[in-house]
Amino acid sequence: MTTLRLAIVGAGPAGIYAADILHKAEKKFEVSIDLFEQLPAPYGLVRYGVAPDHPRIKGIVNALRDVVDSGNIRLFGNVLYGRDISLDDLKEHYNAVIFSTGAVRDASLDIPGIDLPGSYGAADFVSWYDGHPDVPRQWPLEHKEVAVIGNGNVALDVARMLVKHADDLLPTEVPANVYDVLKASPVTDVHIFGRRGPYQVKFTPLELRELGELNDVDMILHDEDFEMDAASQLAIDTNKQILVLSRILNSWRERTTGAASRRLHLHFYAKPLELVGDGHVEAIRFERTRPNGEGGVEGTGEIREVPIQAAYRAIGYFGSALPGIPFDEHRGVIPNREGQVIDDDDQQVHGVYATGWIKRGPVGLIGSTKSDAMETVKHLIHDQANWWSPRHPELSSITELLDSRGVEYTTIDGWHALDQHEIALGEAAGRARIKVVPRDEMVRISREAPRA
Ligand code: NAP
Repeated sequence: MTTLRLAIVGAGPAGIYAADILHKAEKKFEVSIDLFEQLPAPYGLVRYGVAPDHPRIKGIVNALRDVVDSGNIRLFGNVLYGRDISLDDLKEHYNAVIFSTGAVRDASLDIPGIDLPGSYGAADFVSWYDGHPDVPRQWPLEHKEVAVIGNGNVALDVARMLVKHADDLLPTEVPANVYDVLKASPVTDVHIFGRRGPYQVKFTPLELRELGELNDVDMILHDEDFEMDAASQLAIDTNKQILVLSRILNSWRERTTGAASRRLHLHFYAKPLELVGDGHVEAIRFERTRPNGEGGVEGTGEIREVPIQAAYRAIGYFGSALPGIPFDEHRGVIPNREGQVIDDDDQQVHGVYATGWIKRGPVGLIGSTKSDAMETVKHLIHDQANWWSPRHPELSSITELLDSRGVEYTTIDGWHALDQHEIALGEAAGRARIKVVPRDEMVRISREAPRA
């Protein structure tokens, strides 16, 4: 029977789900998958994007682990596509490749002052608090009043991490250096700004609800933001999620405030215009908007300012181009038809596929990458006639290539060793896990394990 030798680049949920779906799919060939990952550890945004106080979402790791540990897949961690391995290398060793590299950069916000010191991208902050090996270990949490721009779940994560008391994070896997910086933070007020109304937010109910459960944090909302227009009423009447979100937000308006040492302010109908400051962020200037009757907003011309000393834009993530692969600079995705990568002339690039956020953009919860992977895998299976014909499909040739280049790749056994090491570190401190943060240490611990 023919064997499909498949490379998957990116070992986050999207790549792992694609591997799982392919193994389980009905097909007339065997499958042999090598999963390449630029980080020494797998799981992508589940390990480096989900906030440490979200153990429920971190639990997705259990499902991913079952796939990675199934014995059907080899993991090559600490291997960067475009540096350690090229498209030509993949063609030499595999029949096809699926890119599942996600979207890890911050979308840009083109307003004056956005480059001032004190202005940050949410993705960088998330990487820092999740112990990503490639970001600095220090983060300047030195200010009392902070803005978070955006009304999606990343904005909620960032605001929650900024305003939550560090000791309430202790039971989680928050890295030690992150706890220390959060513990010393002088923050008193975090302001979340949304350019549309409270019934047009992108939050999800579970995530919004937990924001209101923070210890010693008052929720501050403004009556003027809750005047109802016909489009908002329609959204509440026809969308269960919006109904639940509206109940949560309105319940906070009933609360007594004033006793907490920290405050979380929600500003709706506030379109950011400028970060104001002389050498450092000193205020956010925004235009008050109003409903336009169709679910959108229009400017009112009324300009307001709120003093802040730091600002985080959480307005969405953005994908990165990959060497040799078409890229849509405008949308930050690999151009594709249902996962089949296409070139500038709309022609299919044979053997090359995409799935996850690099395929469809950074929207949707982790579970939605499953249906996405199904679509991509369906085409991969049907495209058998157009697969590449590798000269060296044998399993050993890729390890020989990486070894010959001196690439210090990590394996599934190596990941198990690192995983156990982190759990043991946690046990000693009465915590679930303590993450190893420096890349060289992750690689060393992983490579001390017997190699696959
Ligand atoms: P998102 O859900 O797309 O939200 C982006 C927010 O930024 C929206 O409120 C959007 O407003 C706003 N925005 C965009 N451009 C803006 C601009 N120029 N000025 C002002 N505001 C602007 O993106 P995300 O928060 O990055 O989340 C990405 C995905 O990951 C989502 O599917 C999210 O649910 C998921 N996620 C889930 C969790 C979880 O805990 N379950 C955690 C993190 C992320 P408009 O709506 O007006 O465009």
